[in-house]
Amino acid sequence: MGEKRFVYMDHAATTFTKSEVIEAMLPFLKEHFGNPSSLYSIGREGKEAIETAREQLAKAIGANPEEIYFTSGGTESDNWAIKGTAFARRKKGKHIITTPIEHHAVLYPCEYLQTKGFDVTYLPVDRYGLVDPSEVEAAVRKDTIFISVMYANNEIGTIEPIPEIGEIAKEHGIPFHTDAVQVIGKIPLDMKQKDRNVDMLSLSSHKFYGPKGIGALYLREGTEIENYMHGGGQERKKRAGTENVAGIVGLGKAIELATANLEKHNERTKKMRDRLLAGILEIPDCMLNGHPEKRLPDNLNFSFEYIEGESLLLMLDQRGICSSTGSACSSGSLEPSHVLRAIGLPPEIAQGSLRLTLGDENSEEDVDYVLEVLPEIVGKLRAMSPFYKPTTACEK
Ligand SMILES: *Cc1c(COP(=O)(O)O)cnc(C)c1O
Repeated sequence: MGEKRFVYMDHAATTFTKSEVIEAMLPFLKEHFGNPSSLYSIGREGKEAIETAREQLAKAIGANPEEIYFTSGGTESDNWAIKGTAFARRKKGKHIITTPIEHHAVLYPCEYLQTKGFDVTYLPVDRYGLVDPSEVEAAVRKDTIFISVMYANNEIGTIEPIPEIGEIAKEHGIPFHTDAVQVIGKIPLDMKQKDRNVDMLSLSSHKFYGPKGIGALYLREGTEIENYMHGGGQERKKRAGTENVAGIVGLGKAIELATANLEKHNERTKKMRDRLLAGILEIPDCMLNGHPEKRLPDNLNFSFEYIEGESLLLMLDQRGICSSTGSACSSGSLEPSHVLRAIGLPPEIAQGSLRLTLGDENSEEDVDYVLEVLPEIVGKLRAMSPFYKPTTACEK
C-alpha cells in the first residue's frame, strides 16, 4: 500500500467555498448584520450588497438584474419554477413535458403535480442520456403549459441541446425551464443570445465554489409564475423571507470568479479527466456512462461489471478518495440510479457505477493516485465476487 492522500472528486455533489468568497461574505456576518429591509445604514449596506450580487450574476449569464431572484438553492428554484408555473397556467392546460433523467428537485415536484391532476410526459432519452429535440416537438399538445429539460445531467454529465429545445418551446409559445445547476462555470450562458428561448433557469452557489443554501431563479421578464414563498415583500414581492445576505454576496463573488475562470477550469479539468478516463478504461469489464463528447468537462461516470457501487465507494473512502455512486442503499435495498436506468442500463450494471467529478483543487497527482488505487480495489472486490469471470476487453 502506497501513501494515502486526500482526493476530493465529488464536485457534482458540492464544492469547497473559495477563500475569496468567504472573505467577501464575512462583513455581512459581522458588522453589516442589519436587515436589508431596514432603513438605517447597516441595513442599507446589506441591501446594496444584494444588488451588487444581483448585477454580478446577471452579467455572468447575460441577463438583466431585474430577472434574477435569489432563493435557498437549486431545489427551491426548481420547485418554484415547476409548481409556480403549473399553478399560474393551470387554466390554460394541465400538460407538462420533462425528462426521466432530471434531478429529483425537478422529478418529484412533477410527480407531486401528477397527484394534483396534472399530466406529465417524460421524454425518451438515448443510451447517452440525450434528448432528441424532435421528441420534444412530438410531445407538444394543445394543453402543454411548460417544458423542463436540464442543461446538463449531474450524474452522467451529458449536455442537452437546450438552445434547440428552447426554439421549439418558443415556436409553440410554451414557457421553458432548465435546471442549469451543473453548468455554471463550465458552459457560458447568454440569456440574450444563445439561451434567449429559456424563460426560467435554476442555479445553485455550492456547485461553483460558493456557499450552500443559496441559489437563484432567472425569470425572463413577463414570465407567468405564482409565488412559492409567501410572506414579506422581499425580491420585488416574488420571494418572501429575509434575504440570506452573506450567502447572496458569496454567490455573487463565486459566479464572478467562476465566469472569469471558466476557460482555465475547463482546460485543466478536461486534461485530468481524459487521462483518468484512459487509465480507468484499462480496467477490464468497465464502460463509460454518458455521452463521449457532449459531456461536462469535469464529469466521469463508469459502470464496473460484477461490482456493487457502494462497496467501491467505501473502499475508495478508506484510501482517502471521495467519489459517488449511482446506487444508494436505502432501507437495506439497493436502488439503482433513475438516470442509469433511464439510459437503459440493467440494474446489476447500474449498481456498479462510480462517478468521479473533478474540480479546481485537483491535481495531476490526484489522477495518478486514483489510477493507482482504483484498479487495485476493483480487482479485490471482483476476487470476492462468486460471479466474476473476466471475459470481454473493456468496452469503450
Ligand atoms: C445539486 C443539484 C440540485 C440541487 O441544488 P441544491 O442547491 O443542493 O438544492 C438541483 N439540480 C441539479 C442538477 C443539481 O446538481
